[in-house]
Amino acid sequence: MTISPFLKSIFVAAALAACTTPPATTPQDNSFALSEGVDWVANNPEWGEKAEEVYALATDYVEEVASERPANSWAVVLDIDETVLNNVDYQIRRERLGEGYTPESWSNWTAEKSATLVPGAKEFIERVNALGGHVALVTNRADTQQLWTEENLAAVGLERNEDFRVLLTKAEPDGASEKDARYELVPAMLAVQGYPDVEIVAYIGDNRYDRPMPVREEDKFFCIDQGGMYGTPCAKDPQPVMN
Ligand SMILES: [Mg+2]
Repeated sequence: MTISPFLKSIFVAAALAACTTPPATTPQDNSFALSEGVDWVANNPEWGEKAEEVYALATDYVEEVASERPANSWAVVLDIDETVLNNVDYQIRRERLGEGYTPESWSNWTAEKSATLVPGAKEFIERVNALGGHVALVTNRADTQQLWTEENLAAVGLERNEDFRVLLTKAEPDGASEKDARYELVPAMLAVQGYPDVEIVAYIGDNRYDRPMPVREEDKFFCIDQGGMYGTPCAKDPQPVMN
């Protein structure tokens, strides 16, 4: 096979670029300022307190549910990122580099499995199980990141079967970001696992779209605001939002 002069010039240019490109890691810069939302999650104890406040309200609610329904007849659905797992370290790293989110850096982060717990999440999940409810996790992490995600959850003490029975990621590249179709699948998945006729009684998330859309009055939704660190927060100012 012969290589055209044009392609050859591209290869030469690429080889030269490879020689001159600085290393991917840059020296740590401690003088950079975090964005407001990331700074709030990372450095303001109020963030954890607000999250615990939302989970305390959700706990009161599921205790009421459990007093009125038989065990194994109800479930709660939680988002994962910034609802159960805290990824603020990823954000800090990106801001330190002067970069934002990229699918590749995010995928590398999920492979590290080092996200920490959102305060209150583990206690809530354990309480739901103790009360006879089921926990389903519905996330827009990619299906290719599902195993890493489960391992990260296990690392913070949340295990499949013991703590959650369903974990639905978003199929790449064509799965819908909207979670409605996956929400609808949750009772069917619980049914084939031996728990027929389960009803979802609440949704917990950090984004106003972490619930069936369009909004239905009858859905119970608990939202942990992240100060706008990601996507579309529940409210303009950091605060728990319940309805
Ligand atoms: Mg989230």
